[in-house]
This record gives sequence, structure tokens and C-alpha cells, in this order.
Amino acid sequence: MKVLNVAVIGAGAAGLCAARHIAARPDLKPVIYEQSSSVGGAWFYREETDKDENGLKIHSAMYKNLKTNLPKQVMEFPDFPFDEKLPSFLYHEQVQDYLEKYCDNFKLRKYIKFETFVEHVKPVSQSEGERSWEVTVKNVKENTTSKSVFDAIFVCNGHYASPLIPNIPGKEYFKGEMSHSHTYRHPEVFSGKRIVLLGGRSSGQDISLDLAKHASDVHITISHRTPRIQGKLPKCISQAPSISSFLPDGKTIVFEDGSQTEADCLIFCTGYGYGFPFLDESCDISVDEGRIRYLYNHTINPSHPSMTFIGICSRICPFPQFHYQVLYSLATMDGTIELPSKDEMLKEIEEDYRNRLQEGMPHRASHVLAARQWAYNDKLADEADVPRLNQRVQKLYDDIHHTRVAMLLDYKENEIGLLENGSYNVVCKK
Ligand code: FAD
Repeated sequence: MKVLNVAVIGAGAAGLCAARHIAARPDLKPVIYEQSSSVGGAWFYREETDKDENGLKIHSAMYKNLKTNLPKQVMEFPDFPFDEKLPSFLYHEQVQDYLEKYCDNFKLRKYIKFETFVEHVKPVSQSEGERSWEVTVKNVKENTTSKSVFDAIFVCNGHYASPLIPNIPGKEYFKGEMSHSHTYRHPEVFSGKRIVLLGGRSSGQDISLDLAKHASDVHITISHRTPRIQGKLPKCISQAPSISSFLPDGKTIVFEDGSQTEADCLIFCTGYGYGFPFLDESCDISVDEGRIRYLYNHTINPSHPSMTFIGICSRICPFPQFHYQVLYSLATMDGTIELPSKDEMLKEIEEDYRNRLQEGMPHRASHVLAARQWAYNDKLADEADVPRLNQRVQKLYDDIHHTRVAMLLDYKENEIGLLENGSYNVVCKK
């Protein structure tokens, strides 16, 4: 039996999931390259905000008090439950611990090359019709570079590490402290400060609540596309429309409705961009303002189907979706799924994109799934011929979403109990 060598870039949740299923097949062998000294990726908390001990940019955006915004029953991989003794909403350390356990349970550590940064990936032809991949890596501890050749590549490098900061007229006037949520760690350093957070999605909401215990006042800006926060908020938090400009006095921020506030700090909670700096041009993958050109089913590179991307979509339950993307990709490799021709794949991708635009979704939301995630996961599962995700996950995800909207302040105090009949109940602690 010919054993195929598969490179996995990144040992976050997506890379570990890829490695777990690759290692389970006798005809495949994974090598996982991880630039840091640990598994966990986004969940590997770092006190530092700039560079790590090897001079690499800090990857994780976790902050000290972060609790998950999804309950563990929704977050977990379908084949590896969280410890039942843990509460439903977890501190980041508990998720990191879960990923370490996942790694050890499936005996993945022996495949991981830590402190190994992937510098370059390019397709090379092995023989007539056979594609393989040359991967150049740098051992960042020893400062040595080496090349290896693989039969397939799983790109699992995450997409919460390259902060996006919008250009707002007059930003240069602002003399207060400006930062991005990626470098936010502790609320205490903002004690007594007047803070404006630009961006009212999950990070903006969570960080404003974390700051409320220390800051003197917090304005969270909610764009016209995002619903206003309902329910009770701490007294010091107020909601404002987006920022329109800054006054030359160095401290006044003007909102789109003409109202103004003075601020000491401005925190951009404005999201992240995709980036694959290690991919050679001949991989035929480019990033166009939030759209990756092109990925079939948000996963497979139509120009080189032995290159797969795990974890690209957003507004999803990440771990369960990684599970299905990995099984789907492996099914395309073992012949369970016969992929359409490149032209047909590109046509389907374009149709999906056009449908999204027609529904009013912006171009940059090309990989946002939200309510589409369930049908997407089921489609991957059906094609790969594996059991679908338990429908309870969707029900619970939707219920928690509504609870979050109604009671942002308290929803993480809820405890979810699974009942014997397979459904669940939510016990509100407040
Ligand atoms: P990552 O975890 O980012 O892992 C990518 C890995 O690739 C990293 O270890 C990185 O070091 C490595 N890497 C990157 N480039 C290279 C290279 N060139 N060479 C070698 N290695 C490389 N999800 C939830 O389910 N629930 C939540 O409550 C939740 N809260 C979140 C809060 C925050 C602040 C953030 C940022 C994300 C949150 N998420 C949450 C989403 C989270 O990102 C996913 O759960 C998941 O961990 C992403 O996994 P990943 O493997 O795709 O990416």
C-alpha cells in the first residue's frame, strides 16, 4: 500500500482535527507544522501582544477574562465531548485544555513539528499527471531552513491574526491610545479611562462588558448593518452609531448621527483579514477583500484539489464544521467523492457568490455562513458518507443566539443540561 504524506499547516483546532483524521487512515501520514511552541492556536493565550520569544508575530487574540460565547455542547467536536463536569460557558484556558486533551487522546503530538514556521508552499510535478507539494519550513529556534515534499496539503493557519483597521477621515488627529482588539488583554489598564470601541459584533460586545468594571465610560459603536444591543447593560456603557470623523482637538470623536464624545482610548474591534503569505503564486489562490479566489465548497482549491483549506468560514460553530470539512476533503482524496471538473467547480463557486450578492450580502461576506452552516455541514457529511451533525446542536446554537440578544449581560451564566431523550434544558442562573 502506498502511504501518502500530508502536510498540515497549523496546530490550532482545525489543524488538530485534520491530523486526527489523517492519522486514523493507514494510507496517510500527517506532518503538522506549527510556528509556536504549543497546540491550540487562537486558544493558546499569550500575555505578549507583539512578538513571541522567537520573534514571530503573536497569533492569539485571547484576553485574560475571555469566556466562550458558545456553550461547550455546541463547540465540541462531534467525536470528542468536553468534560461533563465543566460549566457550559468556558474560560479560554478550559478550551485550550480540551484541545490539548484532543491532541493527546488521538496521539497526535508525535506528528507535530513545533516552532516550525511554514515559509513557502509550491506545487511541483512528480510525474505525468501527479501533483505534489514542496514545503519550505524554518525552525525558528535553530534558525535553519529545510524542504520536504508532500502528496497533499491542509492549510489550517487560522484567520484571526491579521487585524483590519479602517481608514476614517481625521484619524491622525486622535492623540489618545489607539489599538485593535487583537492586542487587548486586561481591563485594569483602562481604569478610569473614556473608551470608544469601534465595532459592535462579538468582540466589541464582550470587550465592552469586560471594560465596564474599570473604565469611566465606554461607547460601543454599532454600524447600521448590526442590530443594537437589547436588554440591560452596565450604566457606563452606551451605544452609538459608527464614527464619522475626529476633531482636530485630539480627543473628540464624532459619530454618524452628529453626536460627539471625548475619549482617551479607541479600540478597533473591526475584525481580521485572510492571509496565506506562504503560498506561491502558482498555487493559484488569492485574497480579494474577504473573498478567497477560489475555494470549492469553501474548502478545496479547484486548480489543485490536493490542497485543502480548513476553517475559512465565519459565523459558524467552528469545531463541528472543521470535522466535516476534513472528512469531506479526505473523501475527495480516497475516491468516495469524485470532484467535478475545474470549470464546473468554478461555475458553482460563482453561482454561490452571485446568489449571496443578490440576497444583499456584501462581497467581503463571501465565506460567512451563519444560517447556511447547517445545510452546508449536512451536504459535506452526505457526500463524504458520514453521519450528520446532531440536530440538537443547531437548536441549541439558535436558542443561545436569541438569549444573547435578549440578555447580553447574563447569558453566559446559563447552564445547559442534556436530557435522556436527547434534547436539552437551559437553566438560567440569574
Ligand atoms: P487557529 O486557532 O488560529 O490556529 C492556526 C494555527 O496555525 C496557529 O497555531 C498558528 O500558530 C499556526 N500558523 C499560522 N501560520 C503558520 C505558519 N506560517 N507556519 C506554521 N504555523 C502557522 N470559537 C468558538 O467556537 N467559541 C468561542 O467562544 C470563540 N471565541 C473566540 C474569541 C476570539 C477572541 C477569537 C479570536 C476566536 C474565537 N473563536 C471561538 C473562534 C476560534 O478562532 C476557533 O474556535 C478556532 O480555534 C480556530 O481554529 P483554527 O485552527 O482555524 O485557527
